[in-house]
Amino acid sequence: MSRTATSLRLCTFCGTRISIGHGVMLVKNDGQIEWTCSSKCKKNLRVLKRDPRKLKWTKKYAKGGLKKKGA
Ligand SMILES: [Zn+2]
Repeated sequence: MSRTATSLRLCTFCGTRISIGHGVMLVKNDGQIEWTCSSKCKKNLRVLKRDPRKLKWTKKYAKGGLKKKGA
């Protein structure tokens, strides 16, 4: 059971799996939980406020750039 729990926890920013004992959890005032795997992701998410879809090293990267919906 503990094995499945690790696979469900993904980094909010880059989208990679976070194993037990790793990462930082932030609970926002609205109840939203953010998990980050490293200080790199933490800074990009909270300080630099970057879009993970624009960065090639994340799993959320959109190939060919971001497209406008309905256009
Ligand atoms: Zn990450």
